[in-house]
Amino acid sequence: MSDCLFCKIIEGSIDAKCVYEDEHVLAFNDINPQAPLHILIIPKKHIATINDIFPEDVETIGSMSLAAAKIAEQEGVADKGYRTVVNCGEGAGQTVFHLHMHILAGRSLAWPPG
Ligand code: AMP
Ligand code: ZN
Repeated sequence: MSDCLFCKIIEGSIDAKCVYEDEHVLAFNDINPQAPLHILIIPKKHIATINDIFPEDVETIGSMSLAAAKIAEQEGVADKGYRTVVNCGEGAGQTVFHLHMHILAGRSLAWPPG
């Protein structure tokens, strides 16, 4: 998708601080961190939202959770705890319409989220 910010990060035309990459996903630091650790995991395939996932995407979607656990271990927060968040749609606060999983850690995280 030529007008998608996260597709441009995958292509390399917009810089991001990459922390993890595999066949299916890329992960990088959020530009406006909401916690001491705030990383985004995105599929390399353009998928706009959770509502746009097809059955053939199941390996890619599973890879996002596997990547979250690997990144949490890599960043030293796996034992203490971290939160993964996927906002779906404007009403939930989604601003970039390329599927992404937030990993937040390094401070106490209230529940329910705001
Ligand atoms: P959401 O509100 O769930 O759609 O999250 C989008 C996230 O993308 C926000 O946390 C933004 O800070 C983050 N973001 C926007 N532009 C960039 C960028 N160029 N590099 C890294 N993160 C970004
Ligand atoms: Zn995209």
